[in-house]
Amino acid sequence: MSRPYQGIVELAGARPGPSLTVLAGIHGNELPGILALRRMMRRPPQLRRGRLTMLYGNPRAILLGRRQTEQNLNRLLRDDLTRSQRRSYEYERACLIRQYLDNSDLCLDLHASSTPGSPVFAITEKPAFPLLTRLPVRKVVTNIDPFEPGSTDGYMNSRGKLGICVECGFLGDADAADLAELCVWNLLDELDMIERLPTRISSLQFIQADNMLPRRKLELYTVTGIYKNRAKEFRLTRAYRDFQPVSPDEIIAKDGDLRVSFAYPFHVLFAQDRDRPGEECFLQLQKELKACPPLRPAPLPRGVWRPDCCRES
Ligand SMILES: [Zn+2]
Repeated sequence: MSRPYQGIVELAGARPGPSLTVLAGIHGNELPGILALRRMMRRPPQLRRGRLTMLYGNPRAILLGRRQTEQNLNRLLRDDLTRSQRRSYEYERACLIRQYLDNSDLCLDLHASSTPGSPVFAITEKPAFPLLTRLPVRKVVTNIDPFEPGSTDGYMNSRGKLGICVECGFLGDADAADLAELCVWNLLDELDMIERLPTRISSLQFIQADNMLPRRKLELYTVTGIYKNRAKEFRLTRAYRDFQPVSPDEIIAKDGDLRVSFAYPFHVLFAQDRDRPGEECFLQLQKELKACPPLRPAPLPRGVWRPDCCRES
């Protein structure tokens, strides 16, 4: 009997090199990454060096077309979990994923936002910035780990390795799967793990040229807070786009009878209505005033991979 989305593809090049794990479907309803990974598993790259592992995060949720079955898998890659978290199907998956991440130098985790119109952006930390050069992202979110612990990228960060989560746009965007695939191929190329990009991907790159400017500046956002609802019913006062600025005293939502507003300005991320108390309603971001300097290609060695080669001293 075939077991959909359970397959794991592991590839090795002839020479030693970086070990990369690519994940999609950690949230089962985020189709773009899942489609991209399926294409790549069907036509896997020829590796010249290093190791590549591709796996789906949450096969059961993918089949159901739901974000999760019992627990948010992207909060379970940590040790301080509750009993009900440990009893979930997602915990089984988290344990399996950890084994692969423990054997990897870096992880690329493909997600998509449930907010329509969301741009492509990365969630990662500074050591991985040089690797963003070839990804179609202009915005980068840092410091999410203290507020949403237990993610795949957070797990890698906690191990002193590189974790990059790419939110490939709105989960219903027509070109989001292409963007997700572009991310994987370009990262493989940047890491010198493949001879050349497939023609189809090079053309995609051309179409996405606006997002791929080699010397573009990154906009940096730091997570400074998370809002969790107290009442059962949390309702936004309007649809908030990802990164939308919120003014001081602007009423962003009603948490039961409470009007939610803050005395300071911020940018909002992943804002959504909630129906159970204590859920993640939105993240607060502060935009770094000084834009990141233009990125230059990562100074990666052509020989044996050392994960600390692209870290700042
Ligand atoms: Zn996700």
